Amino acid sequence: MKVIVDPEGCTGHGRCSSVAPDVYLLDSNGYNLVTGVPIDVPEGREEAARLGARMCPERAVTITEDAVASGHTPEPPGSR
Ligand code: SF4
Repeated sequence: MKVIVDPEGCTGHGRCSSVAPDVYLLDSNGYNLVTGVPIDVPEGREEAARLGARMCPERAVTITEDAVASGHTPEPPGSR
């Protein structure tokens, strides 16, 4: 699982980091340090990362589930 913080959307509320400080690292002004690129969510911290995303008042966090973590197995080409 990965999260991506929108650099345009993050306005430094720091609410995401209040529940998942190991996922959402903030700078000294309260903005996410890592924006615009996927951030790997440590195993076992998925729920905290989701909660942090929901708590963002700017909806600046996008969650990306990878195929294995979500249980989704892509169909092979030509299988339909
Ligand atoms: S809660 Fe949203 S706006 Fe605030 S620091 Fe986190 S991503 Fe940025």
